[in-house]
Amino acid sequence: MSIPSLIEADRRHLIHPVVSYRAHEARGVTVLESAQGVFLRDIDGNALLDAFSGLWCVNTGYGHQSIVDAAAKQMARLPYATGYFHFGSEPAIQLAAKLVELSPASLQHVYFTLGGSDAVDSALRFITHYYNATGRPSKKHIIALQRGYHGSSAIGAGLTALPAFHRNFDVPLPTQHHIPSPYAYRNDYADDDALIAASVAALEAKVEALGADNVAAFFCEPIQGSGGVIVPPVGWLKAMREACRKLGILFVADEVITGFGRTGPLFACEAEGVEPDLMTVAKGLTAGYAPMGAVLMSDAVYQGIADGSDVSAAIGHGHTYSAHPVSAAIGLEVMRLYHEGGLLANGIARAPRFAQGLDALLAHPLVGDSRHRGLLGALELVSDKDTRQGFDASLKLPDRIAAAAYGNGLVFRAFGDNILGFAPALCYTESEFDMLFERLEKTLDEVLAQADVRAAL
Ligand code: PMP
Repeated sequence: MSIPSLIEADRRHLIHPVVSYRAHEARGVTVLESAQGVFLRDIDGNALLDAFSGLWCVNTGYGHQSIVDAAAKQMARLPYATGYFHFGSEPAIQLAAKLVELSPASLQHVYFTLGGSDAVDSALRFITHYYNATGRPSKKHIIALQRGYHGSSAIGAGLTALPAFHRNFDVPLPTQHHIPSPYAYRNDYADDDALIAASVAALEAKVEALGADNVAAFFCEPIQGSGGVIVPPVGWLKAMREACRKLGILFVADEVITGFGRTGPLFACEAEGVEPDLMTVAKGLTAGYAPMGAVLMSDAVYQGIADGSDVSAAIGHGHTYSAHPVSAAIGLEVMRLYHEGGLLANGIARAPRFAQGLDALLAHPLVGDSRHRGLLGALELVSDKDTRQGFDASLKLPDRIAAAAYGNGLVFRAFGDNILGFAPALCYTESEFDMLFERLEKTLDEVLAQADVRAAL
C-alpha cells in the first residue's frame, strides 16, 4: 500500500485508542515501520530515539533476536494451548513458577491475562468472588487514587481517575472511590512524612465513612504513571500497605508500569519490602513483544476462593488466550534477559544519568519540576516557577513539545497537565542518554522561542 492510501485506510477504518476520533481523522496516522535497539523508524524513513519504550513496555529494547527465536520456536511447536478443561502448556507453567519465585513472597498463584486492563478486571472479579465465597458479601467498595490509571475495562475504568475515561462511559460506579494522589509538587505538605500521614489519614477516613465491613480493597500504582508520573516518597507504599492490613481490606499493587525493572528492582514493591495481597502486571512481562498480563495472588485469597467454592462447579472466570504459550515463551526469555542478560543491572546503573539529565533541565525556563525513580520520570512545565502556575491548556504546550521533538528525532509522552513523561528502555547506553537530553533541550529551546510561549512566561 502506498503511504497516502495507508493513511486514508486508517482514517476510514481503524479506531485508535485514547484519541478524539475527529482529531485523529484531521491529523492522520503516523505509521511506524520498524525498530532496532532503542530506535524506531517511521514509514517516511525518519529514525526516532524512543524515550518511552513504546508505551512503557519495551523494557528490553527492540529487535532482540533471542526473544524472536523463543517465539518462533514455540509457534512451530505449539502455537496455542487452552488453559480451560485442565489443559496447560510448558512455558505457561514455567512462567507462573518463575513469577512466583521473583515476586514478593506473599504472592503464590498466577492468573494470566492479555494485558493490564483485563488483569485489573480479573483482580476485581477475584476480589468479589473471594469475599462472597468467604461469607463477607457486603465488602464491595473499592478505593483507588485520584490521577490513578488502572486500565480501560468496563469496570476497571472506574478505578482509573482520569476524566476522559469517565466522560460518557458511566463510571465510576457507586462502589468506586478515589482519595487524593500523593502529588508532592501540587500540594503543600511540610515534608515527606506529612504527605505519607495525609495519604494514610485519607484512606482511613474513606474506609470509616463507608464502613470497614463494606470495603473490599485499596488499589494503587506504586508510582502513578498515566496520571503524570507522580512519584511518592519512599515509605509511602509501605505505609499504605500497613494501613490496609489494619483496616482489614486487601492491598492491590498495580505494577503494570512499575514492574520489571522500570523503577530499579524487578518490582517497586520489593524496594520497600511490601507484600501485596494481589498484584497486577503486564507490559514489561513480555516487553511488549506479545500481549500478556497477569494477576499474582496471595495464598490466603486463593485458598479463600478455592475453599469457598463448590468443587463440582466451575469458577466462571476465563479467557481463550489466558496463559498463551507463545506469550509465555516470550515472557520466559524476557525474564532471563532481566537477570542473566544484565538488563536490570544496566537499568540500575544508568538511573543516576537519567536523573541528572532530567534534573539539569530544572534550569530551563519552561520546567518547574523534575521527578523520577529508576528509569521512570517526568518534567512538569510551568509559566511561573515561584507560584508553580502551569501553562494555559489552550497553548497545548506538551503536544507542541512532543511534535517538535519528533522533528528532532525523539519520542516521549506528552500528558495533558503540562507534563512530559519518560520511560527509556533498560538497555539504554550512556551515549543514548546523551542523545536523549541533547535532543530534549534543543526541542525545549525551540518551543521557548515561539512568540506565544514567551508571552505566557
Ligand atoms: N494499569 C496500569 C498501572 C497501567 O499503566 C495500564 C496501561 N498503561 C493498565 C493498567 C492497563 O493496561 P493495558 O493497556 O495493557 O490494558
